Amino acid sequence: MNFYDSERLRVFLEKEGFCEVNSLDEADYIIVNTCSVRKHAENRAISFLSSIKNSKNNKKFCLVGCIPGLYKDEIFKKYDFIDIICGPNSYKKFVESLKIYKEGKMVILEEDKDFFTDFILPLKDRKTSCFITITKGCENFCSYCVVPYTRGKLVSKPVRIIIEEVKKVIEQGVKEIILIGQNVNEYGKDIGENFVDLLYKVHNIEGINRIGFLTSHPKDIQDELIECFVNLSKLYKHLHLPVQSGSNKILKLMNRNYTVEKYIEIVEKARSKVKDISITSDIIVGFPYEKEEDFQETYNLIEKIQFDELYIFKYSPRPKTTANRFPDNVPQKDKERRHSLILNLQDKISLFKNKEMEGKIEDVFIKEKSYKKKSFYIGRTTNNKPVLINLEKDLLGEIIKVKIKEGLRHYLIGETLW
Ligand code: SAH
Ligand code: SF4
Repeated sequence: MNFYDSERLRVFLEKEGFCEVNSLDEADYIIVNTCSVRKHAENRAISFLSSIKNSKNNKKFCLVGCIPGLYKDEIFKKYDFIDIICGPNSYKKFVESLKIYKEGKMVILEEDKDFFTDFILPLKDRKTSCFITITKGCENFCSYCVVPYTRGKLVSKPVRIIIEEVKKVIEQGVKEIILIGQNVNEYGKDIGENFVDLLYKVHNIEGINRIGFLTSHPKDIQDELIECFVNLSKLYKHLHLPVQSGSNKILKLMNRNYTVEKYIEIVEKARSKVKDISITSDIIVGFPYEKEEDFQETYNLIEKIQFDELYIFKYSPRPKTTANRFPDNVPQKDKERRHSLILNLQDKISLFKNKEMEGKIEDVFIKEKSYKKKSFYIGRTTNNKPVLINLEKDLLGEIIKVKIKEGLRHYLIGETLW
């Protein structure tokens, strides 16, 4: 979402005559787009600006995104090298204010009114893939999560605008669209639309080779969505479905509104209907009151489900959230141990699953060039697994048949059939 936001801000800035430069030295403004979903992300953003503050000279430091919305002008007290702060829903105002800005501290938090009536205009580089934000905000109030406080209420982008935006990026060469929202399954609740209908409409647009979406909430998964994986040939057979914990006690404390049993049922249904579907998830370890037996339940669930990939986070208390009022009572060393136990387990599962793909012939979408290896490209199988492949010519954006030579922990190695 932040990638999308940064792109949007860049477009607004360029429209008003600002331009991006290639080095920090040349810049008049340094703009850092921030995430505050975990403390670690916050620390990284602030420490980047602190690390360059000694060479600040006349440059203005701007902190934009979720951190400003959360702490407001308190930021200036702690970090006096920051000049301008702006929330994630106010980038148009930010650019307007920058045009008349001279000196001093500036706070921009008032939301842009026409948030969803603008489109993303020119893409910066030739791209084969593009994120399209379809909702902003979230009202689920999972007890650990800061998003409802930083990004506000759920607001859905009108279907018409999404379609126009998709068409625009396709005209610029994009072949893969990833629809994003905090919980895409809730898309349209506020405007009388729904996500499955949207998927069909986007699927009908000519020129797209692949479509994906992120993120889904288990409480809102419907049979119709699972049918989409069968009916829509361009849709990645991939469901990112964060479970967060394998303990019903912890899920309740997290205010997730589903049980482990319900989660298993969804996964079984998806796997029975969609051959080869890949299922990935997020896990938080060390949530308040997570006892050893709760952790064991999470571990057992991961072993049972055999996710294709897992993103594992150590709980960090976030301001304003309900869980911030709970004691952060799992010692750091236990969080770390639990984190590494799950990481090791997932390493084995992912490696095993990727090895199982060896010898298969896959339709691979060529998504990007490898930065590390010349003439190598990174593609995606129909179930969204990364494949590294050596290509003599540039086939970016195309789908080609690839034989999987080797399955490694994080990706597959493929070879062309010609
Ligand atoms: N909207 C998405 C996820 C948003 S944040 C969803 O509902 O699934 C991405 C992930 O960060 C979450 O799934 C969760 O695993 C993790 N996360 C969020 N808040 C956290 C916190 N306070 N501490 C640790 N991990 C957190
Ligand atoms: Fe946060 Fe829950 Fe909303 Fe996801 S669904 S953004 S975890 S409150």
